[in-house]
Amino acid sequence: MTTEQISFNRPYRARRELDNLRAALNSGHLHGDGPFTESATAKLRQITSAPHVLLTTSCTHALELSCLLLDLGPGDEVIVPSFAFTSAATAVTHRGATVVFADIDPDTGNLDPSSVADAITHRTRAVIVMHYGGVAADMALLLYLANVHGFDLIEDNAHGLGGTWQSRTLGTIGTFGTQSFHGTKNIHCGEGGALLLTDDVLAERAEVIREKGTDRGRFLRGLVDKYSWRDIGSSYLPSELNAAVLDAQLDEFATIQTERHRVWSAYSSALADWADRRGVRRMMVPPDREHTAHLYYLRMPNEARRDALIDDLAGQGIVAPFHYVPLDTSPAGLKYGRTVESCRHSSEFASTLVRLPLWPELTDDQVARVADAVTSHNW
Ligand SMILES: *Cc1c(COP(=O)(O)O)cnc(C)c1O
Repeated sequence: MTTEQISFNRPYRARRELDNLRAALNSGHLHGDGPFTESATAKLRQITSAPHVLLTTSCTHALELSCLLLDLGPGDEVIVPSFAFTSAATAVTHRGATVVFADIDPDTGNLDPSSVADAITHRTRAVIVMHYGGVAADMALLLYLANVHGFDLIEDNAHGLGGTWQSRTLGTIGTFGTQSFHGTKNIHCGEGGALLLTDDVLAERAEVIREKGTDRGRFLRGLVDKYSWRDIGSSYLPSELNAAVLDAQLDEFATIQTERHRVWSAYSSALADWADRRGVRRMMVPPDREHTAHLYYLRMPNEARRDALIDDLAGQGIVAPFHYVPLDTSPAGLKYGRTVESCRHSSEFASTLVRLPLWPELTDDQVARVADAVTSHNW
């Protein structure tokens, strides 16, 4: 008997991708900031309601751009969750600043504001908060701490495009919001990202840093008659080929999200009784937040049980991986970071978590097969 493989993720193919690519190639304008960049940027402004959106080559680069805009340097500290993707930490170490790790909320996997409070010093310049799985972190206390202590919030919103916290769009609550359009994300163009900003002055400077330190953007808009070197800089513009694919994907944002939520909700209801009986914790979404169905995870009672489930599913052709390895105890985390108190929730979360396949074209039958495989796992 052959069992059909169910992959963990399958990058979505949007209908207009090839037409857009052909148009971009035929136009002769392949470098950044052409018509597809403009169109994709306008769609992102609409989805996020961010006044300023700059496409970048990746979320990692949008995080680096944020750290450049903060003029971070040696001696500065940035608080980062232990349970996060490495880019949050490397963007900080890239500036020679110090990463200080904080623990997570064991219910959501998001940064725990009370652990952040314990990690604040007079050197704290920023906190990077990631909305895990597209479920917003608890922003109220983080905003309060940022105000009182005078640091900036950077939202790593790679999972949370279109998600909300208390009706505010994720990525627009802090000073900076960063998006990823990597091939594994809800909306993708292979590799790509964006920086969201609300502050006009920062946005103007971001445009310069992104364009090799020049005011080329203002020149192209006819605001200055030549462009020159104005500031520190790098090159963070994606090519029009990437923007062409991104633009086609964004056209179908609503459909993609509807389909992802269909799969998410099907798992959530199919696994409810079983999870309660077995002491398995399902992914939970606090009531004041709209999530983005970026992923669906379960948290098993312990690591051995989690590993056994992953093996069992793999044996039935279902790819269900774990996720981030805690940063604070990783080799580079020990070398470049500082930990105030042990991040035990991050460690427990990482070692018990398993993610189930989730992509828009997953059929109801396939979802049912995954759910059956989970609930019939030999305990
Ligand atoms: C994917 C991801 C990133 C990195 O995105 P790139 O666009 O590949 O740089 C950063 N943070 C989180 C939370 C991610 O999931």
